[in-house]
Amino acid sequence: MKALYLVRYGEIGLKGKNRRFFENALTANIRRALQSVAAQCKVHTMHSRNFVEVTSGDVLAVEAKLQQVFGIVSISPVVTATLDLADIKEVAQHEFRKVARPGLRFKVNTRRANKRFPLLSPAVSADVGGYLLNLFPDVVVDVHEPEAILDVEIRERETYIYTRRIPGPGGLPVGVAGRGMLLISGGIDSPVAGWMSMKRGVTLEAIHFHSFPFTSERAKEKVIDLCQELASYGGKIRLHVVHFTEIQKELRLKTPERLSVTLMRRMMFRIAERLANKRGALALITGESLGQVASQTMESIHVIEQVTSIPVYRPLIGMDKEEITVISRKIGTYPISILPYEDCCTIFLPEFPATRPRLRDVEEAEALLDMEALITESLGETEIIDIRPPSR
Ligand code: ATP
Ligand code: MG
Repeated sequence: MKALYLVRYGEIGLKGKNRRFFENALTANIRRALQSVAAQCKVHTMHSRNFVEVTSGDVLAVEAKLQQVFGIVSISPVVTATLDLADIKEVAQHEFRKVARPGLRFKVNTRRANKRFPLLSPAVSADVGGYLLNLFPDVVVDVHEPEAILDVEIRERETYIYTRRIPGPGGLPVGVAGRGMLLISGGIDSPVAGWMSMKRGVTLEAIHFHSFPFTSERAKEKVIDLCQELASYGGKIRLHVVHFTEIQKELRLKTPERLSVTLMRRMMFRIAERLANKRGALALITGESLGQVASQTMESIHVIEQVTSIPVYRPLIGMDKEEITVISRKIGTYPISILPYEDCCTIFLPEFPATRPRLRDVEEAEALLDMEALITESLGETEIIDIRPPSR
């Protein structure tokens, strides 16, 4: 099998030197994404588009993979014809047959990259269009609001013909922005926050706080599975699993229960910041959404964020649970997120968590802890897992 795809990308960030950087990242990401589904693929860039040629593999899997590569705006499977007009018409009618139906409003759109081709673009469009109208008497030409476009691209050696445009995920290629440290729980929100950051070009690394034996190994596996799902969009993800049990026990023993969520989250941010600095990550990323739970009121977020100086990205801050769930389903993390294994926060959740914690109270409580020792100890026990995209 040989299949050819035209891949369009957006114009964002395409100025000056950035352009080459952007294009190289996209090309590399396309190659990586297709590794598991196509034994051989060639990618080349021309006139703000990529052409991807796949010589073996499953066409549907290739299309599905390309739809996961950020930076791609749309994809068109292309068939080729020679530079002979009769051949162009023959291939065009073959392609058009796949979309034609009674009443269909269509137009032919020709691009003549090869200026030596004897007919001008409008003449080719008119000729091919007329030919199709003859063959398919039930369709109509509509150049203003067509439902289908048959594209004819006349190039140096051959002609490309296509009718389909499959939407891509948009955004920027992963790798063009910088590294971000995602605080990932097993819930619905944080994987979506990670996906949205990758969509803006962020290379993800992840940190998960695990409270074994209060939370099971299954809870950890769930997070690994979520990372694997995210890796299918952005490539390999390094996950740091931080053992959080000692810290939680210490908090429970020495600090007021109603502050426990705030204190726990401050500890998470401190540890995540240390790790981010060590790994060269430029931001922490969380799945917080304003007002969703006690720890996500403006007051809580204010008190919690005091402990870090690194920027914290909260891509979901203005979204409702329903909106987040829609994305979660679309990107494939939802079925994993709803598996029932307990998260460390749920286990230690107080009956009446403070929704308006005061910084003074929180700092007083923390004064009773040997903060540095707790942080260094849990960092010392951190487990590193490199997670690759699923091989499907
Ligand atoms: P999620 O669906 O992502 O679990 P949530 O609505 O349950 O979010 P919280 O439990 O308050 O909200 O967590 C808020 C954010 O804090 C999460 O989105 C995540 O970024 C981070 N977080 C929570 N628990 C953990 C954990 N065990 N490990 C790492 N990060 C966590
Ligand atoms: Mg949660």
